[in-house]
Formats: sequence, structure tokens, C-alpha cells
Amino acid sequence: MIKPEDHDFFEKELESFLPDQIFDAHAHVWSHQNMLKNRTIKTLPRNGNFEEFSKMLQALHPQRTCAANVFHRICPAEYFDSANKWTSQQVKCDPNYRGLFLMSPDTDPEWLRKEVNRLGLSGLKCYHVYSKVNPTWEAEIPDYLPERLVQVAHQEGWVIMLHMVRPRACADKGNLYWIRRYCEKYPNMKLILAHSARGFQPAHNLEGLSHLRGLSNLYFDTSANCEPIAHQAIIRIIGHQKLMYGTDIPVSHLRGKSVSVGDTFLWLYENSPVWGEKHQSIKPVLIGLEHLRSLKWACWSEKLSDKQVEDIFWNNAAELFGI
Ligand SMILES: [Zn+2]
Repeated sequence: MIKPEDHDFFEKELESFLPDQIFDAHAHVWSHQNMLKNRTIKTLPRNGNFEEFSKMLQALHPQRTCAANVFHRICPAEYFDSANKWTSQQVKCDPNYRGLFLMSPDTDPEWLRKEVNRLGLSGLKCYHVYSKVNPTWEAEIPDYLPERLVQVAHQEGWVIMLHMVRPRACADKGNLYWIRRYCEKYPNMKLILAHSARGFQPAHNLEGLSHLRGLSNLYFDTSANCEPIAHQAIIRIIGHQKLMYGTDIPVSHLRGKSVSVGDTFLWLYENSPVWGEKHQSIKPVLIGLEHLRSLKWACWSEKLSDKQVEDIFWNNAAELFGI
């Protein structure tokens, strides 16, 4: 899975930067039995169980001590029961691991309260694909994270992982409204905005983040976002204490990069027909490595101390998840 070009990239770009302890605040586990056949990726292990998952995490961060907050990959809602059970089983393999419950917006709040606690999980993972809006990437936050479930999270002190949608992410007025409302009304719930506020187009972070200042229960994970300014905007506008590193395993183990363009973004993957342009043949490295370098550049530009970098890679998450 790791190729010579990945190894070279790590040695050159990351070896001297990466702290000794790595907490991955956003990553996926999976069982092939819960996945649709067309979602299986040939280069990945069939099952992302604790053993395979921790091997992947270790491969990206050699010789570091690693732990993670995990949830099941997106799967059909009829498999949620076994998917969440799977997550719970993997989390129990290591006392430093935490896990989130993959939820549907239709869930009964009291059933949810019992299930999450019974499985020993730390909160909820919602996702737009389970909303009834068409297309789902236009969904407003309550369409996939209804307020009655946020209230349960508040009562239980849970974390909620939110991958925002709508084209302009945190520059979208509706998204800003609901994030602020949920955070202010439910202070005991901790909200994580995934993928550096889904700022794959960092202009959206520069425009929107100032409206999210002063929310003590609002956090961010960096996962899969390869744009340095996306992370930098969070560090400068919100503060580095609210930013946590994440890999988005298994996305980190595909090859390519997220690229901002116009008022949006795109993904270059290994099979995108771009690597042979300009009379050379480029060997794309793992997305997880491109991601790490973008975070390194953000930390460098913001002149963070070693201690502050260690906060992003471990301490902030350790405090949030009680590790
Ligand atoms: Zn993810």
C-alpha cells in the first residue's frame, strides 16, 4: 500500500514535523458485510477492523503512538445496527480509542440515548445522504441533524461530527445559523466541523469563520482537506486549541489531492487524467500525506510552537474525548 514515493515524501516533508503522539479525530472503520458492493475499494482491506485500521494508521505515522476516534463508513441505513455494533467492538480494543454512532435523522431520541450508551460510544455521526432532501448536498443541517437529537447529545455530553454540505459550506447563511443556534442552545453538546469546516475551498472559511467566534463547544477536524489556508483560517480566526488532526481513513490511503478552484473544489484521484501533463509523469502520493503537508504549512505560516502543534495532533482531542 505504501510505495517508494510515499516513503520519500514522508522522509522529506513530514519526518521532522510530525509529533510523537497522534490522535486521529476523524476516521472510519468498516465491515464489508455492511457495505454496498459498489462502495468497496479494491486497494483497501475488506474489513477495516481494529487490526487493519491500526495498521493503516501506523503506516501513515511510522514510529508514532497512535489512537483514533472512529465511526463506520457510510452504509445503507438498514445496516446501521450491525455497523454501530462493529464500531463499538473495534473501539473496545484500545482504551485510547473513541467511537461515534452512525445515525439516521428519523431516529427516536430515547432509543438513540440507550443505544449509544449501551455500545459505549461518545456521540453521533450524522450525514447528509440520510436526509430526505434531493439532492442531499443541498440539505440544511436540521435535515440530517434534527434538533431533538442535538438535545439528547446535550443532555448526555456527547460529541457530534458534522460534515456540512451546501455549496459554500461555512460561508452559507443557513449553515452558520444552525451551527450557532445548536452550539448556544445546547452548550453541553460538542460539535466538530469535519474537514476543516469542509473548507476544501478555503475562501469559504475566510468568509464565514468570523461568524463562529466565541462558541466554546465548537471544534474542527482537519481530515482529508489538502488546502493549507483552510486550516490556517481556523487557527487564526478561531484558535489552534479548537483544531484537531484527522486522517479520514480510508480516504487518506487513496492517492491524489483535494484542490480549490473557482468558488468550489475538486478531487484529483490516481485515475484522474492529469498526472501525465507537462512532459513528465507525476506519481501521486497518498492523500493522507498531502493532507499532512498542508497542515504542516498551516502551522508554519501561523508560527505555531512545537507545543501548539502537539495540541493539534493530540492534546486538544485528548481533552475533548477525556483520554
Ligand atoms: Zn469521513
